[in-house]
Amino acid sequence: MPREKTNDAWTEYQAPWVEETDVPFGYRVESRSDPEFGFHTVDLTQRGGHGACTCTHFQIVANPNFRRHGKHIPYAPKRQGVSECAHIRAALDHYHQHMTIPMLSTFKNGITKGEPNAR
Ligand SMILES: [Zn+2]
Repeated sequence: MPREKTNDAWTEYQAPWVEETDVPFGYRVESRSDPEFGFHTVDLTQRGGHGACTCTHFQIVANPNFRRHGKHIPYAPKRQGVSECAHIRAALDHYHQHMTIPMLSTFKNGITKGEPNAR
């Protein structure tokens, strides 16, 4: 089922398209700078949950920044020193919108329904 992109209304750049894969926490993310390449693969389990991507920007810029600064610096257009690429940012936004939020909602409803000791 096609889903809306999560952050189009809030970003000044056009967020890449994200597709779920059969791999848990794995995503195919549209490549905007290299349309011939098509999609990059993002694995959100890498780097302690900060994710890894197959794109050149991640390999040459973002991941070395992560090692150099020793911390996560979120992607934004023209921001220097970022530790993630637009593909990881889009995959994390997708994960938050379609996994974390429904899961938290389920937990909350599960705790309040039929639990005699629920607060
Ligand atoms: Zn990337």
